[in-house]
Amino acid sequence: MTFDFDLFVIGGGSGGVRCARIAAGHGARVGIAEERLWGGTCVNVGCVPKKLMVMAAEYGAATADAAGFGWTIAAGTHDWARLIANKNAEIARLNGIYRRMLDGAGAQVFEARAQFIDAHTLDVGGRRVTAERIVIATGGRPRPPEFPGGEHCIVSDDAFFLPDRPQRVVIFGGGYIGVEFAGIFAGLGSSVDLVLRQPMPLRGFDDDLRAALAETLTAQGIRLHPGNAISGVSADGADKRVTLSDGTVLVADLVFVAIGRSPNTASLALERAGVAVDGFGAIPVDTEYRSSAAHIYAIGDVTDRLNLTPVATAEGHGLADALFGRGPRRWAFDRVATAVFSSPPLATVGLTEAAAAARRPADIYLTRFTPMRHVLSGRKRPTLMKLVVDQQSQVVLGAHMLGEDAPEIIQGLSIAINCGATKADFDRTVGIHPTAAEEFVTLRTRTRVAEPPA
Ligand code: NDP
Repeated sequence: MTFDFDLFVIGGGSGGVRCARIAAGHGARVGIAEERLWGGTCVNVGCVPKKLMVMAAEYGAATADAAGFGWTIAAGTHDWARLIANKNAEIARLNGIYRRMLDGAGAQVFEARAQFIDAHTLDVGGRRVTAERIVIATGGRPRPPEFPGGEHCIVSDDAFFLPDRPQRVVIFGGGYIGVEFAGIFAGLGSSVDLVLRQPMPLRGFDDDLRAALAETLTAQGIRLHPGNAISGVSADGADKRVTLSDGTVLVADLVFVAIGRSPNTASLALERAGVAVDGFGAIPVDTEYRSSAAHIYAIGDVTDRLNLTPVATAEGHGLADALFGRGPRRWAFDRVATAVFSSPPLATVGLTEAAAAARRPADIYLTRFTPMRHVLSGRKRPTLMKLVVDQQSQVVLGAHMLGEDAPEIIQGLSIAINCGATKADFDRTVGIHPTAAEEFVTLRTRTRVAEPPA
C-alpha cells in the first residue's frame, strides 16, 4: 500500500515540530497538523511567556535594590497591558519562526485538528490523509478545578491573557505553575495566597530546597496555606469568596487553579487505531516511543512521563533520527536538570537527599549565604546550594540550588553530573571569583551523612 506520507505528526508543539522537521530533513515525506498555535504550550501558554512575565516581576524589586548601591529611583507603576501586548508580539514572532522552520524543512503543514479514522488514516480538518507511521505529540492541558464554583476560576492558559492585573490572587497548587505565578503576581504588586495540600511546595524536589523556597516565598509577602485545599468558590459581584478545607475564607479578584495537567488524547479517536491509553488518558510507550500500535508513536507530555519541553524536543529528535536517520542519539533521561522560575529561581539535577539515602549512605554538603548583591541591597534573599554525594564511590549524585541564576548554574553542573563526576573532581576545579557558582567547587566540609532508613 502506498501512503500520502511516510510520517504524519499530530501536534505542532516542541516535540512534534522537532520530530517533523528532523524527519523531513532526513528526506521523509512528512505532514504535521496543529489546530491551535505553532510551538504548543511552551511557546504560547507556558515556558516562554512565563519567563517574560517572571522577568517583568523581577524589575520592581531590582529597582528597590538599587538604593543600596547609591541610586535614587522613584518607585514606578507597572503597565500590565503593555507587558501583555509586548509578550504577545514576541510570541507571534516565535509562532512565525516555528511555522517557517517546518516549511523550510519541506514538511506539509496542516492548520487543522487531526483525528484517527483507522490505524493508517487520519481526518485532518475534513481531509483524509494516510501515513505509514504516525506520531502523537498532542501534549497536555491544565486540569480543571473539581470543587464547587470551579467556573469562577482560571487555569494557566487564561493567566497569560488577563486584561488587567488582579490585586488579590488566590493560587491553588504547590507545583511548578503555582509557585511561578505566585512570584509573578507578588512581584508585580498583587497580594497572593498560595494554597497547597503538602506541608511544603514542590513535592519531589529536595526538602532543603523546598524549605528554603517556602521561606523566600513568605519573605516576598506570599501567604502560604500548607496542608490545605480549596473546598469551594462563590462569586459575590466581582469578589470571589474562597473557602479552604480548614475553614479559612479568602476574598480574591482572581482564583487560579494549577493542580497539574492531563494528556490531550480525548478527541483523537485512538480506539479506531488500536492505541491504548492508561487510566489518566496518557499513551504508554516502549523505549522506542511505540504505542500499543507498532507504527504509531507518542512523544512528550501526552505520554505523561517527564513533562518538560527539552525532553519532548529530545524525544522528537531521537525518534526522527531512529526512523529516518542514522539511528537515535542517546539522551540521559535519568538525570534531567529542571528549574522552577520562582523568585529567586531554583534548579536541580540528579537525586535528592531522600532518594539517595533510600539506597546507601550519602555525604551531604550544604551552604546558605547572602549573595553579594543582597549584602548591599538589604533584600532578604539567601542562596542555598547543596551536593548529594554517594559515600562509597564519592560520585556526585545530585546538585540543588535556590538563588539567582540557579538554572544557568545547574545547567552547567548537569554536564559534570551526567559525566559521573566525583566530589574530588569538583574539589580540583578552580572557581571563578567572585561568583555564587564557585561555592559548588569550594564545599570542603561535609554537613552531615544521610543514612538509609533503619
Ligand atoms: P505540578 O504537577 O507541578 O503540580 C501540581 C500541584 O497541584 C502539586 O502541588 C499537587 O500536589 C497539586 N495537586 C494535584 N492534584 C490536586 C488536587 N486534586 N487537589 C489539590 N492539589 C492538587 O503541576 P503544575 O500544574 O504546576 O504544572 C504542570 C506541569 O507542567 C509540571 O509538572 C511540569 O511538568 C510542567 N511545567 C514545567 C515548568 C518548568 O519547567 N519550569 C513550569 C511550569 C510547568 P501534590 O504534590 O500533593 O500532588
